[in-house]
Amino acid sequence: MFSERLKKLKPYKTETTPAKVRLSSNELPYDLPEDLKVKIAERLKKVNLSLYPDPEAGELREAIGEFWGIDPKNIVLGNGSDELIYYLSIIVGEFSEGVYIPVPTFPMYEIGSRVFGRPVYTVPLGKNFDIDLPESLKVISSEKVSLAFFSYPNNPTGNLFSREAIEKIRNQGVVVVVDEAYYSYSGETFLEDSLKRSDTVVLRTLSKIGLAGLRVGVLIATEEVVREINKVRLPFNVTLPSQVIACTVLREGKEFIASCVEKVIRERERLFKELSGFEGLEVFPSRANFVLIRSKEIDLYRELLKEGILVRDMSHLPLLEGCVRVTVGKPEENDMFLEALSKVLKCHA
Ligand code: PMP
Repeated sequence: MFSERLKKLKPYKTETTPAKVRLSSNELPYDLPEDLKVKIAERLKKVNLSLYPDPEAGELREAIGEFWGIDPKNIVLGNGSDELIYYLSIIVGEFSEGVYIPVPTFPMYEIGSRVFGRPVYTVPLGKNFDIDLPESLKVISSEKVSLAFFSYPNNPTGNLFSREAIEKIRNQGVVVVVDEAYYSYSGETFLEDSLKRSDTVVLRTLSKIGLAGLRVGVLIATEEVVREINKVRLPFNVTLPSQVIACTVLREGKEFIASCVEKVIRERERLFKELSGFEGLEVFPSRANFVLIRSKEIDLYRELLKEGILVRDMSHLPLLEGCVRVTVGKPEENDMFLEALSKVLKCHA
């Protein structure tokens, strides 16, 4: 009764285990300030929920455009960028054509491709978790590949891939999707290319800057790409409350978001420095709001959980044996994590 395409697929899993400190989902560790919440509540009070939302989310696209300096005509919104990943798999090439994904990376690229029966070509990352260009070009030239996904910076390794490698893959006639979910923490972007050329699409999200609960993903591309996405986009895919709240926060909470991002970056650098001093621990530099660490001796995920700290286990992924991904939290949460880590490492020394 069910499709062959789905046989090997597993539902996307997230961490729901209860814990004292949750550093597992790369969310912003700060809730909105009270005065902004009051403004949101006032706006929501005036909203007539019996009506459908604006199907184009025009005002929110304008607010996002102002926030990142982009013309709204180059923006399409999704119910999280996850939805937009599906749409890209639908509009680029044919379902018989392959999708290239350097791994380990964000799992939705593979799920979003397999759901439509597209062949997936994963190539393990090379040195310093960068793209293995010779292997990648070999696969791309021997198979029919029309689409590639890059998490930039890469979740879960935290690094930015080399720009030239992405460009060389693009030169093979492949449409490249540059997922800048962590853009606020890296400052690096393919935005200019995405506005000029239809073979380059940028994804961003409001999820990592304090609004994960709203589910607003952002696709930035030429008007040509935007037109094709809109043909397959579900109508009303961004809810009315999400549109109202996101507009308010982006327009009136800009400084709040900037100060939170700054704090997280400062804490990321502190964590990196402190973690580098732990014996028996490998730490990988990060341009995102999380840090990847490795212990060859102990099961970091389980041992930290015993201490009440929830992180994301990555040890089952290729190249990531012994690794966990730790979201940068508030300073006091990071202190608790460091203390717990110091305890579990000492216990096993
Ligand atoms: N892309 C990457 C690289 C991510 O890490 C995540 C979230 N973990 C997403 C996309 C999902 O974003 P959204 O919440 O907008 O669906």
